Amino acid sequence: MQLHCNSLPQNDGRCGWYETLPPPPPSTPLRGTVQADWVVLGAGYAGLAAARRLAELQPEASVVLIDAKRVGFGAAGRNSGFMVDLPHDLTSHSYTSSHEADHKTIRLSRGAIDYTREIVQRHGIDCDWREQGKLHGAANERGGLALDEFAKGLSVLGEPYRLLDAGQMKAVTGSDFYQAGLHAPGAVLVQPAALARGLGQSLPANVRLFEESPVLDIVVGKPHTLTTAEGCVKAPRLVLANNAYASSFGELGLKGRLLPVYTYGSMTRQLTEEEQARLGGEQSWGLIPADPLGSTVRRLANGRICVRNSFTYNPDVHASAGTLQRVLKAHRTSFARRFPMLPEVDFEYTWGGALCLSRNAGSVFGELAPGVFGAMCCNGLGLTRGTISGKLIAEYALGMDSDLLSIMLEQPKPSRNPPEPLLGIGVRSSIAWKEWSAGVEL
Ligand SMILES: Cc1cc2nc3c(=O)[nH]c(=O)nc-3n(C[C@H](O)[C@H](O)[C@H](O)COP(=O)(O)OP(=O)(O)OC[C@H]3O[C@@H](n4cnc5c(N)ncnc54)[C@H](O)[C@@H]3O)c2cc1C
Repeated sequence: MQLHCNSLPQNDGRCGWYETLPPPPPSTPLRGTVQADWVVLGAGYAGLAAARRLAELQPEASVVLIDAKRVGFGAAGRNSGFMVDLPHDLTSHSYTSSHEADHKTIRLSRGAIDYTREIVQRHGIDCDWREQGKLHGAANERGGLALDEFAKGLSVLGEPYRLLDAGQMKAVTGSDFYQAGLHAPGAVLVQPAALARGLGQSLPANVRLFEESPVLDIVVGKPHTLTTAEGCVKAPRLVLANNAYASSFGELGLKGRLLPVYTYGSMTRQLTEEEQARLGGEQSWGLIPADPLGSTVRRLANGRICVRNSFTYNPDVHASAGTLQRVLKAHRTSFARRFPMLPEVDFEYTWGGALCLSRNAGSVFGELAPGVFGAMCCNGLGLTRGTISGKLIAEYALGMDSDLLSIMLEQPKPSRNPPEPLLGIGVRSSIAWKEWSAGVEL
């Protein structure tokens, strides 16, 4: 069986998280033929965790981890840096779903946070790791209702939270924009590109990392062969962790089930001390919109502010320059609504990144063909769900058993999409309708 990598990762704008890090040491691209016991495709959070866990559990085995770009350059370094522990169903008005499913989601997410925390501490990874929880902010009545629903869901789950009024929201954010808020203490905030890079640089010695090595073709066989422009990897066992880029793999039953959707971030320049004083509020906070289609905002301790909003359906897994320009305008509008006291502050970086969603919030997890394992489609929750699915796919592939693995195995598989052009029309109109409904929350 031959799989063609139809969509290769591209440069979807300049990502502030990545660009504000020091330049990385030179990469090692794949050259010539390399043999290994395991090959993991994709060094996002899922692939980093899968390669690490395989190497931890089989210290004698050789593991190859391969990525088209530098670690932290792709979506793993482009996200807003929320390691979310609570339910985060983007298709639900209140982020929550059924009680039992939510409990299981929390266990998986906290498993990922615990695993990552231990690695960050052990290796001293400098990624601005902050166990400060997340705010949910509502700007209007509709957002307030979504917040109420979320709070009710958390009460039923027995999860702690604190409600904030407009004055308390201003005390944290410096902004009059938010009429109500909720603080949930369990989320961890990170600098995502720094975390991904740190994870890549602290892999066990039996993992060989090849970067800037786009895989063009995969022959599934004995062994599996992954071919790049200058070399190939041969290994009897393959883990696919290439997320949205696997959406064309019809031979593995993935075509017509995954939804490559983009979302976008912008980061301001560093605010001056006078601007920070004018803004007021706390030095560092992260806010998720009460309405899932609204804007995520982070204020960073280094004096920058990040805004994330807008979704687009991109089956070619690429954001055009025109889309990035349009999104920048939307980000400027959102920033001006929240921070009218900072009219002169503009964005220095704007970027897009690929999410892999499915219509039923199902994920790809398991053995897709003999010796081919998949951990993909974390529905926008890559920092926690991507990490735990990568860790657990390694344990599954090695025949292990655990409570978390059983939970992961019983998660729904991605449901089948309607055919194009119906799919594109449906997804684009659903995004447009939900963004319109989010209104001022954008
Ligand atoms: C703006 C934005 C904000 C977000 N905010 C959050 C957030 O706050 N919290 C959160 O949990 N999630 C967030 N996300 C989602 C999160 O970034 C993704 O869910 C996560 O990166 C998925 O991890 P992954 O390892 O499954 O896939 P990815 O990170 O997409 O990794 C896949 C890797 O495969 C590589 N690859 C693909 N094809 C090939 C090929 N042919 N050859 C070699 N390599 C290949 C890619 O280069 C990439 O590195 C956000 C995303 C964006 C874009």
